[in-house]
Amino acid sequence: MIEVEGLTKLYGDFRAIDRLTFEVKAGEIVGLLGPNGAGKTTTMKILTCFMPATYGKARVAGHDIFEEPMAVKRQLGYLPEVPPIYPEMTVKSYVEFVAELKEVPGRDRTKKVRRALEETGTWDVRDRLIAHLSRGYQQRVGLAQALVHDPRLLILDEPTTGLDPKQIIEIRELIKALGQDRTIILSTHILPEVHMTCEKIIVINEGRIVGAGTEAELSRTVLGGDMFLVRVKGPAAEVADALGKLAGASRVVSEDAPAGSDAAGFFIQVKEGADPRVALFELCASKKWPLLELRPPEVSLEQVFIKLTAGEEETRRLSQLTHHPEMVGAGDGGTETEASDHQPRLGPVAQYLKDRDQASGQQDGR
Ligand code: ATP
Repeated sequence: MIEVEGLTKLYGDFRAIDRLTFEVKAGEIVGLLGPNGAGKTTTMKILTCFMPATYGKARVAGHDIFEEPMAVKRQLGYLPEVPPIYPEMTVKSYVEFVAELKEVPGRDRTKKVRRALEETGTWDVRDRLIAHLSRGYQQRVGLAQALVHDPRLLILDEPTTGLDPKQIIEIRELIKALGQDRTIILSTHILPEVHMTCEKIIVINEGRIVGAGTEAELSRTVLGGDMFLVRVKGPAAEVADALGKLAGASRVVSEDAPAGSDAAGFFIQVKEGADPRVALFELCASKKWPLLELRPPEVSLEQVFIKLTAGEEETRRLSQLTHHPEMVGAGDGGTETEASDHQPRLGPVAQYLKDRDQASGQQDGR
């Protein structure tokens, strides 16, 4: 539905976006996630033909955004950061007005306006002045104007900014419902937003894409490959030693058993292309160690985001502050069996990331 290649926008010498390349498939809800100033709005304004790029190519629904802007605009609905609503109009007359501007044929207009109002939950307030609506309802009207011409693609810039918590939940649910039969790309700097609303994430920082994929894929990128969390009931030191010798395991980091349990947890880093699960099962069976848990570790989206967008020092500080039971270590949870510079507040995964960064820093001569 969207194909972007090498998209670049220069303001003088400043690169607001720098060689962005990505794809959004039909039917996906994709979050463009990045801190303030990352280049999200710039990207959206270019894709919606509101602003030209300096270099690069982009196609929307098969149409080139530079050569066929009118065809592109017919295929997409855009909700800018500040909704383009006229407070002195009633909801229905405003959406009718937009339908006319978007050249929705007269014979379809009544039906399409009604459908847009019903889909966005604004049919019951259709005769009220927009100025008298809550901010959440005004945002719904913004969505109604974006979809009144029945586009296949919606582009939403920070759609929950300025809303209260209840309105945020309602708008997120509405976006998910609208995404059932449309492609949606939304920008946000709010992590829970992408977690709750989007199937795929493009992380953008200082104008560049620093990560893309599902939440699970991004976690895997941050961890540097596959990792398993294993919980085994057995003598911890002996278990750790045996796990470290498993074919396919490149590194084992252990954490203390949770309170009230004698089953310690172990994070097993897996060598590329290897799968140590069968060997693990056979080991536990031969040693008669009950295998209580085997799953990928949960890396929070916060940690992925920080890792991809922040500097090393900030990554370390924020890893320590992240209150995630799997990440925060003993005393808050874990014992790093292999870490030489023990940091009591770091959990096994945070410790692993830190160690890995330090090792690569040394290799780079940093
Ligand atoms: P926010 O969430 O704050 O809107 P954003 O990710 O949408 O951030 P953009 O608005 O795309 O970021 O801006 C990207 C960069 O380009 C920022 O550093 C911004 O200051 C700069 N920028 C945006 N518009 C202009 C302009 N007209 N002239 C010069 N610089 C600009």
